Amino acid sequence: MTKHEETILIVEDDAQIRNYIAYILKQEGFPYLTAGTAQGAMSTLVSQRVDVMILDLGLPDFDGMEVIAKVREWSELPIIVVSARDQDREKAAALDAGADDYLSKPFSATELLARIRVLIRHLYKSRGNPVQPILSVGDLSIDLGKRQVYLKAEPLHVTPMEYNLLSLLFKNMGKVLTTQYIIKEVYGVGYGTDTQALRALMAGLRRKIEPVPAKPRYILTEIGVGYRLVDE
Ligand code: CA
Repeated sequence: MTKHEETILIVEDDAQIRNYIAYILKQEGFPYLTAGTAQGAMSTLVSQRVDVMILDLGLPDFDGMEVIAKVREWSELPIIVVSARDQDREKAAALDAGADDYLSKPFSATELLARIRVLIRHLYKSRGNPVQPILSVGDLSIDLGKRQVYLKAEPLHVTPMEYNLLSLLFKNMGKVLTTQYIIKEVYGVGYGTDTQALRALMAGLRRKIEPVPAKPRYILTEIGVGYRLVDE
């Protein structure tokens, strides 16, 4: 069994789901803490070391959304939202409030662990190790220093906007980004909430990088939420 150093806080009022998540983490060798309420989560966060938080949105005392907002006032702690409310608007709202990823109940151990691994990798990158100047997935690479994209080791021509979009996805590889966040980062604040331009930009980029643009293998659409660059 692999031993991990990262402590994971499970915030979930349903004891069955809490135990299920705890069991998965234990099997994988992750130290974990648990809380059944928003207040319990907050007091754990101020008194103990936590590296990743798994947060249920429907808590008995406060809404999980309020926990995200509070934590974001003072911490970049990676947060995975777990929600039974299978509503895209809620997921997007949680991500825009500062959550890093989400899982819909029911989810598998494999899904949960994959999301945790992605967040832990990002955690170490942001903690000092400089981001690798060249990032790759499959046949697609990006050189962040030279602002150059490569497909099958050949330089690929992309427009400056397409580059901004692709580099944003690469810097957040494996993480879902909301449409609103992407628009803000690619076009800048004040661009508004027009998603048409982004959809057109995405279609153009996919035609250049995807072997089958109608069935993307690199940039996945998270319906009603946003986009995710696969993390192989
Ligand atoms: Ca709940």
